[in-house]
Amino acid sequence: MFNIIKVKTTSKVEAKDITDEVLKAVRGKDGRILNVYTPHTTCGLVINEDADPNVMRDIIEGLERLAPRNHPYRHMEGNSDAHIKSTLTGCSLMIPFSEGKPMLGQWQGIFLMEFDGPRERKVFLTLIQ
Ligand code: ZN
Repeated sequence: MFNIIKVKTTSKVEAKDITDEVLKAVRGKDGRILNVYTPHTTCGLVINEDADPNVMRDIIEGLERLAPRNHPYRHMEGNSDAHIKSTLTGCSLMIPFSEGKPMLGQWQGIFLMEFDGPRERKVFLTLIQ
C-alpha cells in the first residue's frame, strides 16, 4: 500500500500532530512495517508524546537552542536553521504494523515538524510486507 497525505502547516515553526490522518489512511490495511516519509528539506517527522502539548513546545525550543534562527549561516536562502532542524529530526519513520494499525505506544503521536512554514507538505505512507 502506498498513500500520500497532504499536511497544511499554518506557522513558521510548529509540531503538527498527524497521528489521526495516518491512522485513517492505513486502517485495516496489510503490512508489517509502516514507513512514513516526507520529501522536503525544511520539515521533519518525529514520534513523541502527544498527551502534554508542552513536550512538543520544549522540543521546538530545544531545537532552536541547537540551531538558532539568527545565526550567521552561509546558505543565502536564509533558512539554514530549518535545514539543520530537518536533519536533526529526520524525514522518515519506520513503525511496526499489526492488525491494521501502527503499534504506537500509549503516549506516542506522529508529528510533522514544520521549520519553515507555513507550507503544504506531503507525507508518503508505505506499508511493507
Ligand atoms: Zn534553504
